[in-house]
Amino acid sequence: MFDGLSRSLEKAWDSVRRDGKLTAENVKEPMREIRRALLEADVSLPVVRRFVKKVEEAALGERVVKGLSPDQKLVKVVFEELKQLMGGQQAELVQPKYGPAVILMAGLQGTGKTTAAGKLALHLKKKGLKVLLVATDVYRPAAIDQLVTLGSRIEVPVFELGTEVKPPEIARQGLEKAKQEEYDAVIVDTAGRLQIDERLMDELRETKAAVNPTDTLLVVDAMTGQEAAGLVKAFNDAVDITGAVLTKMDGDSLDITGAVLTKMDGDSRGGAALSIKEVSGRPIKFVGTGEKMEALEPFYPERMASRILGMGDVVSLVEKAEDAIQAEEAAELTKKMMTAKFDFNDFLKQYKMVTGMGNLSSLVKMLPGMNKVNEKQLAEVERKYKTYESMIQSMTKQEREQPELLAKSPSRRRRIARGSGRTEEQVAELIGMFTSMRAQMQTLSRMMALSGGAQGVA
Ligand code: GDP
Ligand code: MG
Repeated sequence: MFDGLSRSLEKAWDSVRRDGKLTAENVKEPMREIRRALLEADVSLPVVRRFVKKVEEAALGERVVKGLSPDQKLVKVVFEELKQLMGGQQAELVQPKYGPAVILMAGLQGTGKTTAAGKLALHLKKKGLKVLLVATDVYRPAAIDQLVTLGSRIEVPVFELGTEVKPPEIARQGLEKAKQEEYDAVIVDTAGRLQIDERLMDELRETKAAVNPTDTLLVVDAMTGQEAAGLVKAFNDAVDITGAVLTKMDGDSLDITGAVLTKMDGDSRGGAALSIKEVSGRPIKFVGTGEKMEALEPFYPERMASRILGMGDVVSLVEKAEDAIQAEEAAELTKKMMTAKFDFNDFLKQYKMVTGMGNLSSLVKMLPGMNKVNEKQLAEVERKYKTYESMIQSMTKQEREQPELLAKSPSRRRRIARGSGRTEEQVAELIGMFTSMRAQMQTLSRMMALSGGAQGVA
């Protein structure tokens, strides 16, 4: 899958590698390759456009990290955005507040609903849940037999009422039984049609209303390519689904039959996985990777992104390097802050470095009275620092190097307030904050020196 992408990118990375950093110019070529590969993989054009734009923006905002070449950074950016495109986190089944989890399987005919129902039953059974399968495909007697056979193979009971009772009623009675006999999960298999029509949607809506499922999963054939995304959206608009199951993600088992080789030209399968979340807003929860009952896996955007790029090594290398660099910078920052010479220039420098690292929280945690900061407050802190910055910029060179001057002189503080368009109270607040921060740092530094903690810190 996506062999084309990793191969064509190999060449494209070269243009970036030569320049030493990511620029608007040198990301153009890799971006063209990514765009081409995604379109070839049958990802829809609007999705591709948005994706490429995001990667470009993120790439240009990247800082240079020691020990990492720009092409490695770019791989990481593409990886992160791919992961986000597919929903970022793995999407779990919805947990019921009380009673059994009710999972309604929806989808067109032949996409693998019945198979997925059986696979999911086995998956949940292995987790220790008591599972009931419910057969509501009354249009083909063979469909009920199929589920009954699957059920006996995996030793999960199947509730069925033959072909004479209407699907919503079967589902309702199945759920009733599950509640009475304290099942943990009920999986309702439904009938499909060759294409979306009102009768299918109406029946699905009625069945849904009858059992009020915790999850409504649309089963999508991965070979549908970019149409898969539109399909999920159409179902979601009609009956409000909670997620998708992508089936037939297995290359090998179909390769062996040989007959479906034309549909299996790997690339067309990736398109579905990539577009579903973006187009429908609903995540892929599972992927089917074969005809066997065990061939079902939770969908991990991260693993899929790494598979698509075929560059897992580079991604983990970049992560390690970034961790190392953050640790190094943080240590340096702490050391500087603990010296008596720490002045407003250092303060500004640290501030810029830390915000540049996208990691204001580590600085904030060192500030007096600010160690219990949550994410929302961080934005506020960020804003506050902008005002600090403007005031520091209105200071003379001497004032920045000797913060004590300001504590003693109201006229200096007034001048700074006027120069930066702030109030004198704000200037006083900055000086107060700075002074107590420095005092705390020095105390900390002395304590560490006493306990032999920090070497080389004055
Ligand atoms: P339904 O009509 O939606 O209930 O589809 P079925 O569950 O009856 O499956 C239709 C066909 O697709 C069957 O031959 C299944 O064995 C096959 N199938 C289902 N899931 C997968 C899968 O993940 N991989 C492969 N290769 N075949 C699958
Ligand atoms: Mg079926």
